[in-house]
Amino acid sequence: MRVLIIEDEAQLREQLAARLRAEGYAVDAAANGRDGAYLGAEYPIDVAVVDLGLPDQPGTEVIKGWRARGLKFPILILTARGRWEDKVAGLEIGADDYLVKPFQSEELVARLRALVRRAAGWTDSKLRCGPFVLNTAAKELAVDGAPVEITAFEYKVLEYLMLHSGRVVSKSELTDHLYEDDADRDSNVLEVIIGRLRRKLDPARILNPVETARGQGYRFRFERSASQDGAR
Ligand code: CA
Repeated sequence: MRVLIIEDEAQLREQLAARLRAEGYAVDAAANGRDGAYLGAEYPIDVAVVDLGLPDQPGTEVIKGWRARGLKFPILILTARGRWEDKVAGLEIGADDYLVKPFQSEELVARLRALVRRAAGWTDSKLRCGPFVLNTAAKELAVDGAPVEITAFEYKVLEYLMLHSGRVVSKSELTDHLYEDDADRDSNVLEVIIGRLRRKLDPARILNPVETARGQGYRFRFERSASQDGAR
């Protein structure tokens, strides 16, 4: 997942960036409204954290600009204590959630996870697709009820594919959402990861959960299980 942080307080921005990287996010960060507005418009981000009090361009203007361009990614706003009017204004122009400073980073992490999930049409923190259950809070995979060990990077790839299950996800879309820098992108690495995931998800090679759409990318073949009430 790719997150954009727009926050002018350097210490807070760096703390959040470090925390979110530790959670597995690719992080883009900006210290003012104008740079942040640009990154949000040009980068394939999954979720944005926007402080409302920003130099150059207030957070509300940044958000209005994105929404006017049809950008739909979820947005969480940060507001100063006691500025309830800001919260209301932010939500009315298209933000999806808010946190009042100071806040616990755990709460931010949980809210961002929920926003990303809901944007993809899921409500439960456990993604259930056929026999595969991915617990996005604990970052754990179970197949037919049995835990299966996966690495942090395998988890990121699988989470993206399962969030968008049933749809073909191209290699470039995957790398865009998983890597911060172009330099890290190597489609051979991705192919290796997909190969390992397939062996872990389906050791008997009968289910073929991660289908290759020739020349297009990958598709998680098991769609969201019927018990999920988040279907849109
Ligand atoms: Ca500020």
